[in-house]
Amino acid sequence: MVRDTRRFDEEYDVAVIGAGIGGLTCAAYLAKKGKKVKVFEQHFVPGGCCTSFSRKGFKFDAGVLHLTGGKASGAFQKVMSALEMEQELEFKEQFQRFVFPDFTYDSTRNVNDYPEKLKEMFLGEASGITRLFHTINSIYEDIKKLPALSPLLTKYREKSYQDLIDEHIKDFKLKALVNANWHLWNPVWKNSAIDFASLTVSETIRGYFYPVGGIQAVPDALVRVLKRYGGEIEYRTLVDKIILENGKAAGIETGKGKRVRAKQVVSNIAARATFLNLIGEENLPADFIATLNGLEISLSSFYVYLGVDIDPRESGFNAPETIVYESYDNTKDWELLLQGEISIPCFGIAVPTYMDPDLAPPGKHIVIIMTMAPYSLRGKSWREEKKRMTAELITKAEKLIPNLSQHIVVQDSATPLTYERYTLNSLGAAMGWAFTPQMFMKRLEQKTPVPNLYLAGQWTMPGGGVPAVAVSGLRAARMIIGE
Ligand SMILES: Cc1cc2nc3c(=O)[nH]c(=O)nc-3n(C[C@H](O)[C@H](O)[C@H](O)COP(=O)(O)OP(=O)(O)OC[C@H]3O[C@@H](n4cnc5c(N)ncnc54)[C@H](O)[C@@H]3O)c2cc1C
Repeated sequence: MVRDTRRFDEEYDVAVIGAGIGGLTCAAYLAKKGKKVKVFEQHFVPGGCCTSFSRKGFKFDAGVLHLTGGKASGAFQKVMSALEMEQELEFKEQFQRFVFPDFTYDSTRNVNDYPEKLKEMFLGEASGITRLFHTINSIYEDIKKLPALSPLLTKYREKSYQDLIDEHIKDFKLKALVNANWHLWNPVWKNSAIDFASLTVSETIRGYFYPVGGIQAVPDALVRVLKRYGGEIEYRTLVDKIILENGKAAGIETGKGKRVRAKQVVSNIAARATFLNLIGEENLPADFIATLNGLEISLSSFYVYLGVDIDPRESGFNAPETIVYESYDNTKDWELLLQGEISIPCFGIAVPTYMDPDLAPPGKHIVIIMTMAPYSLRGKSWREEKKRMTAELITKAEKLIPNLSQHIVVQDSATPLTYERYTLNSLGAAMGWAFTPQMFMKRLEQKTPVPNLYLAGQWTMPGGGVPAVAVSGLRAARMIIGE
């Protein structure tokens, strides 16, 4: 390999590519520990999937709508305490409402209340519910001991959540309810039993939280902390190369031609982009490339952002986040979706102005309607379908918020292409790799085959979701420091 002898324009201990929550957490912790660190971000705001944008006085959350564990010893709380930034953010607790054709369920933040409430609703299933939640709780406890694999984790490592619930309960409505949290962007038969069980416990115990000021408050706070500890961030800067010296990461090169030397590089961007574009296949082991190309990517999303001049609470719509299932069996819808058809197995409606009224002009509200979506459509394009899909979601939401369409003062939508454009995540993925059983234990390590290159974010351990990527950022920083 010919050594590149061109000069470097800047020099740091650590260069971080991407200002998603994983990259920012990593950089802030390194800066706190005295490292000279700089984050390079292609967008003009920090946060990646966790950003907000403004239109005519309304501040819309672009993707992330809540954090689990914002308080009460949740994962994000632990990260905030490691960064000594608890005072930087104020979180309000919220709940989720699940709407089915003939019943409604409001989430409760007590892992013991949850099965008890289910037993009251499904009397004949009491013993199955007890056994199901005993198994789920045991999986959650065993996960903490990884990489050691308990007999329970060994039993379920290749099973789906569908397998797990089918073993314990029979009632189809109960099954629909215990699988109702769509946060893994996957149908029940494709969701890893272990990942979903762990999510069920952590989301239930830790609760859902909303940051005052909107979702952008989270990355903004991390940037403040990064800078307070002496770290730097450069926006509108696309990194297009990781510089290698003797096969080791030695810095980065930006699209503007700036060369930055760094003892370590942390990539917070899509894994395939990191390895295939910024490093190059020729510099990596063939088996690693084969693994990388074989991993399944999660679905993306379709969002409709509405600024409205009504208060939906006046028509009884009072939950900050509602997830609607129009049928108990959405298998067909999921199958169509996975084949690249527009299909809506379920949809959500969030009203973040219930949590923070200042996100909208006085007397007005924000209504966000969202569902999962495939990146590529079979025989159609998102350009053609965007308008139709927006109208369909508004019509569906109108069944719960009467006359919604007559009260829209601002409207916008995001397709998977929008998420790809703003975050550069492959296929606009909402969660990085899909949470399939095959992915459990197969996620990319934070230490990569390239010495001095680390990963932080949703494409590495422990996976997607804001608290998880914050944990991955902290872990990457601690690996670099040797803590
Ligand atoms: C629509 C949607 C809704 C979601 N809802 C929730 C939710 O409610 N709760 C939750 O916990 N999680 C949610 N998630 C998942 C969560 O947002 C993500 O898992 C998490 O935010 C990803 O963080 P990350 O650190 O991996 O970085 P990302 O958010 O993926 O950010 C990567 C950053 O890198 C930058 N970048 C990319 N390439 C380059 C390059 N070459 N050079 C420089 N910069 C680059 C991007 O601009 C971006 O800022 C949602 C995701 C989506 C898309």
